Amino acid sequence: MIKIETIVRSNILELKPYSSARDEFKGKDGIFLDANENPFGILNRYPDPYQKELKQKLASLKSVTPNNIFVGNGSDEVIDLAFRIFCNPGFDKALTFSPTYGMYDVSAAINNVELLKLPLNKSFQINLKKMTPYFKDSNIKLVFICSPNNPTGNLINKSDIEFILDNFKGIVIIDEAYIDLAQEKSLINLLNQYNNLIVSQTFSKAWGLAAARVGMAFANEEIISLYNKIKPPYNVSELNQKAAINALINPSRFKNNLNKIRAAKRQLKTDLQQLDLVKKIYPSDANFLLIEVDNAHDIYTTLVNQKIITRNRNKQVRNCIRVSVGTPEENNRLITTLKKCDEKGIIYR
Ligand code: PMP
Repeated sequence: MIKIETIVRSNILELKPYSSARDEFKGKDGIFLDANENPFGILNRYPDPYQKELKQKLASLKSVTPNNIFVGNGSDEVIDLAFRIFCNPGFDKALTFSPTYGMYDVSAAINNVELLKLPLNKSFQINLKKMTPYFKDSNIKLVFICSPNNPTGNLINKSDIEFILDNFKGIVIIDEAYIDLAQEKSLINLLNQYNNLIVSQTFSKAWGLAAARVGMAFANEEIISLYNKIKPPYNVSELNQKAAINALINPSRFKNNLNKIRAAKRQLKTDLQQLDLVKKIYPSDANFLLIEVDNAHDIYTTLVNQKIITRNRNKQVRNCIRVSVGTPEENNRLITTLKKCDEKGIIYR
């Protein structure tokens, strides 16, 4: 067990958090003249700052208690708040494995924290030998592991993650934004073993609620209370809490959607494999495929000109574009357009 308070910034430990009107009086009966709200309207009252109804539903779905859950304004908020809780700006460091999700870099830079990036190996797995020397560096407060990884699509080996959890004395954040689409289960069950683990997930991908901005962190109560201590008081709007609750009470819609995405992904992969300009499709446990072509820039630009927007990941993985799985119609348009391209992306018929 790690003494969490020894890795928290001292100003955060000492912080006296803002106490909102809804913190001070929690009952539902009465007339509310405490929060300077407008008494008229439908959305005139502040939302539940601790999203209790949503957490109750999430707790039973994820087999944790509500005290093990933080709900954020997207999982990007989970990432940013981790820097603010644990990393002294200009002094502490964080570490991740590249190529990976770009927000770790941006959040680190915003918080004036150096982000060390160890390259993943050829199979996009962690090279544990390269990681080992960093276990001794007590200024590294956070390690981000994205699994399934964006933009490569693969899961990171569970045994490697456990090795890091067994040896690293800071906080390990497993970013499971795409886990509902994966073949393997979430690592939430490791929370019982490791008190320095944060698992982050989101409603933006498999749940289909990217517009609502609802992300989650699962961790032990001590870490969750630190998140609650520093978060903006009403960080998840009432509309967004309701959207997430609505999704949770409709599990068959969720499952149907997942099945449709999985079927569309299989078809997309089969169709892409037939194309000469596709050199390689990396295995994916997410709702996107990383595709190697001869010239990612040319193919990307040709597709944009045809109003098909993919992500040029050439800078992260040479000559690769990342394609999200769309509807069968959208995927067909992509395939039809690619069929007309030569390897330089020139459309010749
Ligand atoms: N993690 C990963 C790996 C992602 O790809 C994304 C979004 N693309 C996020 C986190 C952020 O998701 P959100 O803020 O929408 O929950």
